[in-house]
Amino acid sequence: MAEKRLKDRIALITGASRGIGRAVALAYAREGAHVILLSRDLSALGRVDDAVRKAGDGKEATLIPLDLADGGAIDALGPKLYERFGRLDILVGNAGILGRLSPLTHIPSEHWERVLAVNLTANWRLIRTLDPLLRRSDAGRVIFVTSSGVADSARAYWAPYSVSKIALETLAKTYADETRDSAIKVNLVNPRATATCMRAEAYPGEDQATLRQPDELTEIFVKLASPDWTATGEIVEP
Ligand code: NAP
Repeated sequence: MAEKRLKDRIALITGASRGIGRAVALAYAREGAHVILLSRDLSALGRVDDAVRKAGDGKEATLIPLDLADGGAIDALGPKLYERFGRLDILVGNAGILGRLSPLTHIPSEHWERVLAVNLTANWRLIRTLDPLLRRSDAGRVIFVTSSGVADSARAYWAPYSVSKIALETLAKTYADETRDSAIKVNLVNPRATATCMRAEAYPGEDQATLRQPDELTEIFVKLASPDWTATGEIVEP
């Protein structure tokens, strides 16, 4: 039997309660990783944990119910994970929200702030609190999930989401540059149209059966998380 590619790696996945994050968590568990699942919904995380046990030879996940708009809770994460695990091998900053699609002039300020908080600022805070743990890994791997098509096109009505994602790309590439002399590699995945709740929110009339399913994306996330992945600062498409 082939060696599991993420055997005993410790991986934190944000937005793991459904969609792309759930599929990545299950793929990592199948490849032998211990997965730490983060989202707001503890009961949904519990259901993912059931599937993780089946996928990962009975190994249970660690569940973190946390709202990524809560900066203080993110800041406390690094010290807590340090106490429990002593290091982090893989961070997947996947959680994201679409927000309401609306003209710039109609966006309520709390709405703008929440999209930027969850999609962008939370990922900067995760880097800040988890960098010491990633540096304790022999091959720290950081993967953020972007949406390059939307981010690059400056499409009408999508501003909070687009701005958050283009800024996330700059954030990730900056971290890649700042860690170039270390064992850490930082990259982004641009999944493109995938059948999830967020996609259904953006395109309610679409038949999701015609889209790529989250399970079909996971191979690239496994490769980017592997110790033998060498590139950094790139946007990769499955
Ligand atoms: P999804 O099914 O809606 O999942 C979003 C995840 O983010 C859920 O697990 C949700 O968990 C979590 N989340 C949302 N707000 C949160 C908060 N405040 N705190 C903690 N967790 C939060 O969407 P998805 O399509 O899988 O999206 C995953 C990523 O892929 C996003 O970054 C998205 O921008 C990107 N993407 C998706 C597509 C696509 O076509 N689907 C295309 C390009 C990029 P809870 O609700 O349980 O908190």
